[in-house]
Amino acid sequence: MGILQGKKGLILGVANERSIAWSIARLAHREGATLGFNFVGEALEKRVRPLAETLDADIVEPLDVTSDAQLDAFFSKVEKKWGGLDFLVHSIAFANKASLRGRFIETSRSDFHLALDVSCYSLVAVARRAVPLMKEGGSLLTLTYIGSIRAVPNYNVMGVAKAALESTVRYLASDLGTEGIRVNAVSAGPIKTLAASGISGFKELLTNYEKATALKRNVSLDDVGKSALYLVSDLSSGVTGEVHYVDAGFRISLGLIR
Ligand code: NAP
Repeated sequence: MGILQGKKGLILGVANERSIAWSIARLAHREGATLGFNFVGEALEKRVRPLAETLDADIVEPLDVTSDAQLDAFFSKVEKKWGGLDFLVHSIAFANKASLRGRFIETSRSDFHLALDVSCYSLVAVARRAVPLMKEGGSLLTLTYIGSIRAVPNYNVMGVAKAALESTVRYLASDLGTEGIRVNAVSAGPIKTLAASGISGFKELLTNYEKATALKRNVSLDDVGKSALYLVSDLSSGVTGEVHYVDAGFRISLGLIR
């Protein structure tokens, strides 16, 4: 019996097989979970649907988290299909490329709003609609990065969005505890994905990171997926409001390259 046997979970944020969300989905399916997915626009549907089908997905529906209408439609389909929900993975972030390079002070109002809306408010938006379905408690999980607490070159407005996201995790956890709903974040080390390729100098960051971690390596998609399994499953039943680092020990090391 897998640790997610009989559980129903939504995985939001699969763009392709390199997505962190996809690695979580693969492992959750292996542990017995029944899964639902979203996609953004027709082009992405062509990529996400065939992937989701390999995991016998029950739900593959459009959801752009900036649209309240799509949020309502998506969760009403989930309610109709499943009538309940056990866990949700929020693996979504976006910022305009222009704001992920150069000086932070140049961030425009509209780029700031967009990054915070897609990368942070969306967790509140999905939680509002998911919570009524979690009648027997549940687990919400999001993905963050150490750029929330350290000034990482070029991460800029996304660092501010991740700081707000981590705070959102704590407020939601406090809000939802009485309903038996836990809310946590995994803070992942850098991994080459579609979203990461938008960050200027990312390749160099990966090379330096590897040398500066305690484990002297970068983290893998599997490293992140396995920890996510723990947080969405009953194995972490007493854990909420946490930011759990899956970073090969980068945070606790001096960051010196040796
Ligand atoms: P990814 O594969 O590009 O995933 C990002 C996802 O966000 C995509 O599926 C993207 O869909 C989705 N998204 C963007 N705007 C959206 C919107 N308006 N509505 C719905 N979905 C939207 O990259 P990833 O690295 O796996 O990112 C997943 C999460 O992990 C993000 O929160 C990221 O910040 C976090 N993270 C990544 C790293 C890393 O180094 N890769 C490290 C720590 C944390 P579209 O492609 O269709 O826009």
